[in-house]
Amino acid sequence: MGGGRGDGTRVVHAGVPAPVPGEPFLPGPVFGAPYHLDPVAGPKPGVDGYGRTDNRTYRALETAIGELEGGECVVFASGMAALTAVLLATLRGGDTVVLPGDGYYLTRAFAGEHLPGRGVEVRTMPTAGPYPALDGVRLLLLESPSNPGLDVCDIAGLAARVHAGGGLVAVDNTTPTPLGQRPLELGADFSVASGTKALTGHSDLLLGYVCAREPELAAMIRAWRARTGGIPGPFEAWLAHRSLGTLDLRLARQTANAAAVADLLADHPAVASVRWPGRPGDPAYAAAARQMRRIPGVVTFTLADKAAVDRFLTASELVFAATSFGGLHTSADRRAQWGDDAPEGLVRLSCGVEDTADLVADVRRALDAALA
Ligand SMILES: *Cc1c(COP(=O)(O)O)cnc(C)c1O
Repeated sequence: MGGGRGDGTRVVHAGVPAPVPGEPFLPGPVFGAPYHLDPVAGPKPGVDGYGRTDNRTYRALETAIGELEGGECVVFASGMAALTAVLLATLRGGDTVVLPGDGYYLTRAFAGEHLPGRGVEVRTMPTAGPYPALDGVRLLLLESPSNPGLDVCDIAGLAARVHAGGGLVAVDNTTPTPLGQRPLELGADFSVASGTKALTGHSDLLLGYVCAREPELAAMIRAWRARTGGIPGPFEAWLAHRSLGTLDLRLARQTANAAAVADLLADHPAVASVRWPGRPGDPAYAAAARQMRRIPGVVTFTLADKAAVDRFLTASELVFAATSFGGLHTSADRRAQWGDDAPEGLVRLSCGVEDTADLVADVRRALDAALA
């Protein structure tokens, strides 16, 4: 569905088949491992044969996400399956990859554990830069806004520099979702994401995807998935597709809640620092306003220490302690507990879809308790 329609319309209709009387709007999940073959003709192109490569439920989800990202989509069982597919399918011995030094820590951990032994040189850069010369780089992976620091980089400018040297650019688009940012339009070759977070938003499934601008790159990722087998299950794919229809509504409330909570945090004496790219005065504000379509509902702030975070989480009635983010329920994660090299008091707060006034009142009470 294209034609200049708004986000709310696009997510409701994305990947949903044309109406068939007697059929549901979104056909239910198909649980096939092998499917019937024609006993004489055998496998036929366009007819499902085996579940690792063929499943109409995840194909419908790929159509939906591909429409929203503006490219061809290949879905995976998790965000890490998608990210590692991009890294391992594009990099060979002798190549150099540049990763965000402040992005999702497991991407960096995977690269450090598995790429140098394959002859790949791994370099890390802070998302906000400065970026050194990028010629000779085979793959630049960006994460903007970065998780958890929420710094933003100039995707189009960096993509032009890497392309000039013949390299590829991938953007981890988990935090913004395709309604918040369209990396392929900004010049990236891949938009890769965890669908576990705001994209599906109900904290009930794991999912990942890679979208590619060029069909050959999508085919390479699809071939990787067919060999390595990291497909999502049909029920997860169906649940994800079912949840996509409310993405516009969920993000709108999450962003409104984040704006209100970021203002509260900025003025509260318990808070040492706050980052939200939608807040005028935030170091990422100008860059985010230039390249993003909306600002996500994730706010990162720092309290004095672990004890202050403990008091904050214990006092709050609406903020669940949880890792992950982007769901219906407001949640908070003290990143240092995961071995992230974050300050002890750093909290990534993911605003849910509760009423703004209720959430602000609850967070204010919890911050007051954190001071005590
Ligand atoms: C969660 C996350 C991932 C990993 O996704 P999973 O679905 O948990 O495998 C990758 N990148 C970012 C930015 C994330 O937040």
